[in-house]
Formats: sequence, C-alpha cells, structure tokens
Amino acid sequence: MSIPVIDPATLETVATVADLGPGEARQAVDTAAAAFRDWSRTAPRRRSEVLHKAFELMLRDRDELALLISRENGKSLADATGEVTYAAEFLRWFAEEAVRPGGEYGSAPAGGARTLVSHRPVGVAALITPWNFPAAMVTRKIGPAIAAGCTAVLKPAAETPLTAIAIVELLVEAGLPDGVVTVVTTSDPASVVGTWLDDPRVRKISFTGSTPIGRILLRQAAERVVNSSMELGGNAPFVVTADADVEAAVAGAMIAKFRNGGQACTAANRFYVHDAVYDTFVARFGAEVEKLTVGAAADGAAIGPLINEKALVRVRAAVEEAIAEGARISHRAADGPQTGWFYPPTVLADVPATAAILQEEIFGPVAPIARWTDEEELLTLVNDTEYGLAAYVFAGDLRQAVRIGEAIDAGMVGINRGLVSDPSAPFGGVKQSGLGREGAREGLREFQETQYLSVDWGL
Ligand code: ADP
Repeated sequence: MSIPVIDPATLETVATVADLGPGEARQAVDTAAAAFRDWSRTAPRRRSEVLHKAFELMLRDRDELALLISRENGKSLADATGEVTYAAEFLRWFAEEAVRPGGEYGSAPAGGARTLVSHRPVGVAALITPWNFPAAMVTRKIGPAIAAGCTAVLKPAAETPLTAIAIVELLVEAGLPDGVVTVVTTSDPASVVGTWLDDPRVRKISFTGSTPIGRILLRQAAERVVNSSMELGGNAPFVVTADADVEAAVAGAMIAKFRNGGQACTAANRFYVHDAVYDTFVARFGAEVEKLTVGAAADGAAIGPLINEKALVRVRAAVEEAIAEGARISHRAADGPQTGWFYPPTVLADVPATAAILQEEIFGPVAPIARWTDEEELLTLVNDTEYGLAAYVFAGDLRQAVRIGEAIDAGMVGINRGLVSDPSAPFGGVKQSGLGREGAREGLREFQETQYLSVDWGL
C-alpha cells in the first residue's frame, strides 16, 4: 500500500510513500525502545555534535529542501527557503542546549539529607507533525528529543511526508545511530498513534495540529498518563492602536497574515484597528494585498495554494458567511491558476464584531478587519475565544502596547512585530491552544523528567 504525495499547485503526484499500519507502528517502537538504552547514555557532547552537523547539512541542502517543501506543501519558494533556515536553527539551538541538561545540589532545610536533582530523558517519544511547516515542526520536536537523549517514532502528516524523511536522512548522515528516530508514514493516523499511545514503552507524546485532534490524543494519553506536549490551534488577534506607525503595522500585517499563505497557527486571524487609523490602514494594507501574486512556487508566486480542496471549500464558505453578516471585500489579489487549490488574498472590511469569521481559525489568506475605539471593549473581544496562542500589537506608545500585550490571554505577543517564532523563545499557547512549550530551554525540559536522590552522606 502506498500514499500519493500531491503537489497542491498542480495536483500532480510528486512521489509515493509507504502506507503503514499498526504492525509497523509497533515495530517502530521496538526499534526506538532497543535504541534507548545506548542513546540515553551517550555523552551530551556527542548528541550535540550530531545536531550541529545536521544543522550544517540542512543549510548545505537548503535549496533542495526548499524545493521539496514547496512541491509537497505548495508554499512559495521564499517561504520554503525561510522555513528551512528556521527549521535548521532548531537543530543548532538544541545542539547548544544538549550540553546543558541542568541539575542541582541542595541541602534539606532540616539538615542531614542532601538533594541531588537531575533531568533525565523521558523515554521513547511519539512525535506527530502537521503539513503546514513540514520541516520546522519536525526539527522543533526531533531536536530536543535527540538533545535530551530520547529516541523517537515520528509520524508526519500524510500530505507532507517527504521533507520529514529527508531530514531524518540528514540526521543519519550527521551520525545519528540507527533506530534513534523512525519515521512512520500512514494514511490512518488514528491507528498508528493509537497503537503508540497503547504501548507502555511510549512515555511521551508531542503533537502539533488542531485542537479537536489534540483533545482526542489527550484523552488517549490519559489512559497511561503519558507525558503530553500539545501545540494546537490559534485565533491570533492583530491590534493596531490610534498612534501606531501605520506603515510598520502594514508591513507587520503582511507577514503575520500572509506568511505561508495564512496557513499557520500563529497567523493573524482577526484584525482590530482603531477608528482613528482604520481607513488609512485598510487602504494601505489593501494596496499591498492587491500586489500579491498567486500561483505555483515554481512560477515565483508570492502566495501558493491551500493544502487541499477541503481547505479551499472552508475558506470560501467563511468569506461568504462574513459577507452575509455585513462585511465587504475591500481589496483582493488577482485569482491564481485554475488548477490547484488557489484562493486569492482577500481583505474584508467593516467586519461586525460578532461575525463568525472572527471566532474561527481561517487558515487561509483572508484578513477580516474590525474597528475599535474603547480599550476595555477591545480586550473583551480579543479574549473572547477558546484559543490563546499568538497575538500582535502595533502601537506608538509602548506603555499602551505592553499594557494590551499583558492583558491578552496568549502565550506569545508580538509588539510592533509580525513574527513571534524564534528557536530561543518558548513557543506555545494558553487555554485550548495547548500545553507545554517548544524551543528555548523549556523545549528541552519537555523531553526530560526530573529525578532527585535524597542522600545521607553521613556527614
Ligand atoms: P490539520 O487540520 O492541520 O491537518 P490535524 O490535527 O488534522 O490538523 O493533523 C495534524 C496531525 O495529526 C497530522 O500528522 C495528522 O495526520 C494527525 N492526525 C489527524 N487525525 C489524527 C488522529 N485521530 N489521531 C492521531 N493523529 C491524527
């Protein structure tokens, strides 16, 4: 059995990969469990060197990997090249963190006992990644897993397995021993991941994907109390205040909305622009949106297709519903080619605060813009969501920017910046956007467990 990998720009089959099931999933755990004993005892410096080398190899192959990402995901070459660099940086960051596993030595307050605290690899980890960042979501999990001394089974999204396979090949070229990471491709994720969560040897799940699937996996993980990291959906607000630098806000909005064609969990999903600058912002932002070219990465377009037909149908319906609720299309880029799942970047102005599109994760190149005047009302609207991943605030007065930023229930807030992702910063959400953090020191901790020895030295 095999799964075709489709280029969403041309609908051509790029390659096929094996369609594996529960049997292979269990074998992958056999492999990871067998490799754990040696790998978890490898010197941290050695693990660091493998990651460093893999970082260099990813940069060596940057153009080739970018092409692969564009072919299976559809994103523009500029986005794909940026992703390879970003993805490689996780390997470098965790190469640097690998030699800092942490630990503590303390005295019990009552005297006598000494406490030795260490951070140990959690064990075999199941890594589940989505299709929107086929490289970065893989390295953001594999990097800390390897650094911590874990072994892993990895299930990439069926839409984009090729990049994950290529990255694991580079890790092996960099010296990663056989069996430390095994990729399992499947068109039946529920049975593969279900097999893993049923297996007592799997001690960790790290998942990036939608909130509904995250909930299912948390329920399954509860059966055996599996250590869970969840990077789930978002509904990022993009706030522009009355004294914001509109040009800077427009530049930030283009990145926050259109990186990856809007198919990012951190994508600006709803814009709240102060009445004083509303018309100027819509006009300037709209003018930039109309310049975006839509088409295949191979043709140099800025915006690629959506991942599949289902996504296209969903985005179309969300826009139609918003219009029925009173919004209007103020600006729109030219249509893309007829083949492929293209949707033209669209600005929706005069969106009522109650519109459904402000509550749903759009995951496409559509920017709904609502108006605000009162900061308290704004904050109520902004926080009226089950999500809490990213937010963006553009303001001249930095005190106001920080005040708003701190009042937003989100794990990450960009202040006068349209991009929050950074391997050295703790990426993650609050509320139903997830549990745990990726990147930074915290990212390593997700793959470690703390143990202490309470010691009587007889002193
Ligand atoms: P998206 O809407 O971005 O595709 P999903 O949450 O459906 O988000 O997918 C993210 C990842 O979760 C993918 O690797 C996908 O194959 C996997 N996945 C989807 N459904 C399940 C499931 N029932 N159990 C385990 N993994 C799943």
